[in-house]
Amino acid sequence: MSQVIHSPRMYDVCVIGSGAGGGTAAKILTEGGLSVALLEAGPQVYPEKDFKMLMWPYELPHRGAGVGGRAEENFGEFLAPNGAWNIEGEPYTSAPGSNFQWFRSRIVGGRTNHWGRIALRFAPIDFRSGTRDGIGDDWPISYDDLAPYYDKVESYIGVFGTRENVSSAPDGVFLPPPVPRCTDLIVKKACDKLNITCIPSRLAILTRSVNGRLPCHYCGQCGRGCVTASNFSSSQVMIPPAMKTGKLTMITGAMAREVILGKDGKAEGVSYIDKATRAERRVNARAIVVAASACESARLLLNSKSPQFPDGLANSSGAVGRYLTDSVGSDGWGIIPRLEKMPPHNHDGVGGMHMYIPWWKFDRKNAFPRGYHIEFGGGRDMPGIGEFGDLLHEEEGYGLTLKRRARETYGIGIGLSGRGEMIPNPDTYCEIDPSVVDKWGIPVLRFHFKWSDYELRQAQDMQETFRAIIEAAGGEYKTKTSIHGQYPFGITEGGKIIHEVGTVRMGADPKTSVLNGFCQAHDVKNLFVTDGAPLVTNPDKNPTLTIMALAWRASEHLLDEAKKGNL
Ligand SMILES: Cc1cc2nc3c(=O)[nH]c(=O)nc-3n(C[C@H](O)[C@H](O)[C@H](O)COP(=O)(O)OP(=O)(O)OC[C@H]3O[C@@H](n4cnc5c(N)ncnc54)[C@H](O)[C@@H]3O)c2cc1C
Ligand code: SF4
Repeated sequence: MSQVIHSPRMYDVCVIGSGAGGGTAAKILTEGGLSVALLEAGPQVYPEKDFKMLMWPYELPHRGAGVGGRAEENFGEFLAPNGAWNIEGEPYTSAPGSNFQWFRSRIVGGRTNHWGRIALRFAPIDFRSGTRDGIGDDWPISYDDLAPYYDKVESYIGVFGTRENVSSAPDGVFLPPPVPRCTDLIVKKACDKLNITCIPSRLAILTRSVNGRLPCHYCGQCGRGCVTASNFSSSQVMIPPAMKTGKLTMITGAMAREVILGKDGKAEGVSYIDKATRAERRVNARAIVVAASACESARLLLNSKSPQFPDGLANSSGAVGRYLTDSVGSDGWGIIPRLEKMPPHNHDGVGGMHMYIPWWKFDRKNAFPRGYHIEFGGGRDMPGIGEFGDLLHEEEGYGLTLKRRARETYGIGIGLSGRGEMIPNPDTYCEIDPSVVDKWGIPVLRFHFKWSDYELRQAQDMQETFRAIIEAAGGEYKTKTSIHGQYPFGITEGGKIIHEVGTVRMGADPKTSVLNGFCQAHDVKNLFVTDGAPLVTNPDKNPTLTIMALAWRASEHLLDEAKKGNL
């Protein structure tokens, strides 16, 4: 067994992970005066060097397709670095009959370097949907508890949007939105005909300068990472102010393996692998904040076994790893022939949608519980890898004929993506695989995943709506799905929407939940979890804004408790 190298220093807090939840915690805790050791499994990120914001496809080998075209699996070689569906030497497994995909980042800022920046508040009803429809559980906190923290996060990171008074999509503190693109106006008109609500989208991208960060210059390449920090990433927006306090010690290349429980029943440190030397090291702290991403945090707790917690740290409820959900996803696309005749026009804008469709049927009786929103896009943005793939399959010509056809069809497609609420079910969870370890010797996760009829009916509704919108716009809907097959109604594989949450959930009852409403473990009072894991439900709204609001609130609570000497 390798020797554990102890650091003699005692920190106030050890935060594990520097993504949405960990970065927020590091900022609030250090600004509150606490000393923080931040363990991050990946390396530092250097935007000027690492982000390919202003590169042409031809400047990369294989024009961004990667060796053997494999880069497409990870959204192309232009994606901000170190995010992938598969990480060499760090596997995960799916139980027989299950298929779960897990996109992980190993870099400072985590997946906030890659995310789509869609920043939506959960609605008041989302915190008590169990009471409303009798399915699942309520949160131990209400929208009113979190609203001041949504305000703080939005004001600090910068989110554009408009005040619309839609019950399923509460308004926030917004910067002005960018103007709609041509395709937005086409979809909006179609939605108006169908009585579907379509409004400016809400993205964590600056349309005005905030705290010295420059506004967006509309290059449309957010997924590559933004060199001017005009969109939000934890690495560029949360970590720098934490560093500035002088209270943050960032330890990169540090793969946390176990949270150590002291004899007094409190967490006293974290054991981690120093990836550079493969040595096992230890950091001691008065409080531990786990924010390694929802499933990774569940893994860490499940791997932290002790006589007091033989099934994993703070897991007396057995809920760690359970209640896993992803968003329900189904995609479709169609063509709008009249766009063929469009003269060349300006399509500049942010790297994401300028308008979207919030859940609009919240006051109706639907064939499924809860709801979904629709993201859409199209038009003449910079052609990327695979842009003309369908055309190449359909057209027999080559040379001039093919080029003419490419010009005619370029920008006439509109894609629609439904993102809906999954209800937790007993067949969907993660656990430790009894026989597989990663290259650091740490046992890995095994996923069980199943969509229920609730989600399939939602996907069906999405497909019917996409068709109606494209046809109301005078177009032809191209996507074909059916009730049969592995993916009925085009429902995506579990995990594929990258909104996995719920694996260390909060709740009022310690018998059925791991954390209280402040993301603090019921069983171990100086242990907090501040990533996607505490979420009780996974409403149609993308989760990251809520992760940051919860992390901000939990960190303020931790500061208060530390001041009172309660930790
Ligand atoms: C392509 C893409 C698009 C997305 N679009 C959106 C969107 O538009 N809106 C939205 O709300 N969400 C979106 N998401 C999801 C969003 O990125 C996540 O919800 C969010 O980043 C989760 O935050 P987190 O703090 O839980 O984890 P992460 O941001 O993943 O951060 C976890 C950090 O922990 C580190 N870590 C992991 N394990 C360990 C360990 N054992 N020891 C030490 N460190 C560790 C990782 O290296 C990482 O830095 C998207 C994600 C992707 C990939
Ligand atoms: S579109 Fe704006 S926010 Fe996105 S990468 Fe370009 S400049 Fe940055």
